[in-house]
Order: sequence, then C-alpha cells, then structure tokens
Amino acid sequence: MCGFFGVIGSDQPACHEIYEALVCLQHRGQDAAGIVTHDERFHLKKGNGLVRDVFRMKNMERLTGNAGIGQVRYPTFGGSTNEDAQPFVVNYPYGIAMAHNGNVTNGEEVQDWLSTQKRTILHSSCDVELILFTLAVELSEIGGLEPDHDSIFKAIANVFDRVKGAYSVSALISRFGMVAFRDPNGIRPMVMGYRDNEDGSRSWACASENIPLEIQGYKGIENVNAGEAIIFVPGEEPVRKQLVDRPHNPCIFEHVYFARPDSVLDDVSVYESRRQLGRNLGERWKKLGHHVDVVIPVPDSACTAASTMASTIGVEYREGLVKNRYIGRTFIMPGQGARTSGVRRKLNAIRSEFEGKDVLLVDDSVVRGTTSKQIVELARSAGARKVYFASCSPPVQFPCVYGVDMSTRSELIARDKSEQQIAEAIGADAMVYQTVDGLREALQTAGSNLNYCAACFDGKYPTPDVTSETLEAIETCRLDEQQKISESHTAETTG
Ligand code: SF4
Repeated sequence: MCGFFGVIGSDQPACHEIYEALVCLQHRGQDAAGIVTHDERFHLKKGNGLVRDVFRMKNMERLTGNAGIGQVRYPTFGGSTNEDAQPFVVNYPYGIAMAHNGNVTNGEEVQDWLSTQKRTILHSSCDVELILFTLAVELSEIGGLEPDHDSIFKAIANVFDRVKGAYSVSALISRFGMVAFRDPNGIRPMVMGYRDNEDGSRSWACASENIPLEIQGYKGIENVNAGEAIIFVPGEEPVRKQLVDRPHNPCIFEHVYFARPDSVLDDVSVYESRRQLGRNLGERWKKLGHHVDVVIPVPDSACTAASTMASTIGVEYREGLVKNRYIGRTFIMPGQGARTSGVRRKLNAIRSEFEGKDVLLVDDSVVRGTTSKQIVELARSAGARKVYFASCSPPVQFPCVYGVDMSTRSELIARDKSEQQIAEAIGADAMVYQTVDGLREALQTAGSNLNYCAACFDGKYPTPDVTSETLEAIETCRLDEQQKISESHTAETTG
C-alpha cells in the first residue's frame, strides 16, 4: 500500500506541505519516500526509508516551486531499491512527474506494448512507470505541440483502456497543471480539496486519505470518483470528467487495517466501521461460549474494534500490549526475515494484564500467521492462562493483486485450514474470525452502500482481467521476487 499527496497553486513552496502530508501518510508505507516539485523544471528527491530519514534541510531547499507531488511507498510489484522509489519523471512529450497508490495487473502486456513504442526505456520495476509512460506515449500521439484539457482527458481514457488493475494517480504536466485520476473500479482511495491562500489565490490538493488535507486547512474535501479524471490549472476551477462508468468497488481492507482511524474513505468513517466490526465479532464470540477475563488489542489498528468487542461480550478492555511506535509496521516490511524479527522488537506485554488470566487477543487480520503466533507466545510468556485470538477480518484466502502485499497464496495460513486448525497453528486455545457478511454488514451500518472489493476473502476480483491464469502469473512473479530478495539478503549478510 502506498500514500501520495499532490498540490498545485500554493502561495508557498510546495515541498513543506508535501513533507507534512507524507508524515501524515507514513502509515501507508515506510519503505521509501519521495517529493518532486516544479517551477521552471522538475526537482526530485527520493530514497529508501521513512520520510524523516530521506529529507534533510538541504534537500528541501533544492525542492523549489509551488506545485509538487510526494509519495510514501511500500513495495508491491516493484522491489525495494532506491530506483523503485516514487515519484517518477519523464521528459517527453512535455515533461510529466507521477506518483501513485496501487498495482497494475497486466504489467507484462503494458510492457510489451511500450516496447513497440521505441521512445520508452523503463528505469525500474515499479509499476507507476507503466502508467507514466503509457500516459506520455498517448499524450504525444494525441496532444500535439501543446497539451489541452481535451487531449489530456483522451490520453487518460486510453490509459484506463490499456492499464488494468487498481491505481489512484497524481501527475504534474510541466508548464500546464496537475492531473488526478482513479482507476475505473475506484479500488484505491483518493480525495481532493482546496485551500484559499493569503494572496487571494486558491491551491488544490489530492491525496490517498483526507487527513493531510484536513490538517493543512483544505476545505471542500470530496472523493475523486472511480473512473474519473480531474485537471487542475493554477488560477482556474478544476475540470472534472467521468471517463469510464463501472461499478465502484473500493478496497474493504482499507477499513480494517490500512487507513487511519480518523480517515473518511468514500464517505464512510473508518472509525465507525471498525467499531461495528468489533460489535459483530463480539456477537460471534458469544456463541462460542468461552470464558474470558479481559480483551486485549494488538495495537494499533485493532484497538477500536477490540473496545466495542469487549463491551459487546461484557468484559474489560485493557491495553496489555505496548507498541514501540518508532519501528515500522512489520506487515509492510519486505521479506519474511524482516517480518519475523520485527514483531518482538515492536511489541511488549504488561505482565499484570496477562498473569493468570484468560485473555482474548484481537488483531486486525491473520495473514501468514507468523505474527499472530509470536503474539500468542508473548501472551503466554507473560503468564496468560488461556489465550484466545480474534481477527477483525475474515480468513485471508486469496492474494491481493491490487496493491496490498499479501504475497503468494501458498503463504496464506487460511487457504486450506479451518478456524480450529489455524488456532492450533498459531498456538491459541481457540479463535474467531469475522465473516465476509459481517464485514460487509459493518460497512453498511457505518453508512455505505458500495459493493466493496473483498477478493482476498472471497476470491471475487472486481476487475475482469484477473483470471486464474493472471493469478498464476502474478504468483510466479512474486515467488521470483521473493527469491531475489532472499538472495540479496543472503549476499548482504555474507558479503
Ligand atoms: S483483494 Fe483485499 S486487500 Fe486487495 S483490494 Fe481487494 S479487499 Fe483490498
């Protein structure tokens, strides 16, 4: 998962507010960060690491201009090298800079098409380059010497046609303006808003979540629609165009895990949906009839649901696990080795909350089971008598091809196991999962009537291009990537 923020028309150097926005979006990826700004030309700084580690004062001074885009990334299709960090810039036909959140599902097909276009040499394995070069090629065909609104909309419509998958994109077109577009199914989130500048002008921004806009004084924050493109030119009202009309299928897992609890995604409060997830889970738990003394969340994303689950089953909610907030989210770290060591470094148990008690741990999800197993061990070593485990999301049985690193199907613990078998595998006395219906119902109760993508739970991928062959190809590609990552880790340790 990634996060981005784009701004145009600011009366201040754009890099400062982009930096603030990226800090706000850091939960969406800690692998790399980057900012590109524009005045007479593009200025780019990007690299691996957290936002605070990538940018120094001297970098910020160099990032001049009142328009720019920033991105925080965790790897999906691409790897984790500096070259894969976003944004990317291409010099033709007019100069375009781009950042995105999502994943392209027909990467090979797009690469094949691009290779027939002569002018394109990909510089990385990051799939935003596929979108960027496709837009550049289309614009150079359609746009003539100067880009205008019509040619840009046509070029983006052709991008929607050629590039399949899930992507929310922000791009700067040199000496013209900023464009924002969201894939035809609107799987990945995106919002926009405006701020009135002190000099009477207005700046416009778009982002993966509303919080960076909200805290920086933006108003009129609204969704970018599925299949919509928006052109922002300084000094003018943005021009919006619905380019494709398809069912809107936003990612339901954003509500469970990725988004900040204070975010509102597609007009639904993440906090409210998490509260409802906890109530549903509590109702399921009551039917199992196990005694528990205390409900303890795995911080942070499970806290809201755990508190309503506790009140639903009528036991105390206690914060018995303490998280070191200065270590990256282990789920997001690339490679299994980093994931395993990260859990224990990240969490510690308050012994008095566990000793001699029957404890119900609540986490947002169980993906590979590695993390859950270590947390159960931690609870036992802190003296818990019984350790039960609740997952706010249903069993993850299928890979996500839309930008969430659930990796290969063979790694998913729930692909071939019952609840009881999973409980045994992670060392818990019993466990309870959210149901897919319960998950959908929680979103409805929180105020949504959208048909969410829940493909990682039910295998129903909303984009027609995802077939069993695509899944197989993606699986093979990811296994190759994992192999490369593990080889490079081995080389690093032995080198
Ligand atoms: S497959 Fe799962 S994680 Fe991926 S977009 Fe759909 S709901 Fe979200």
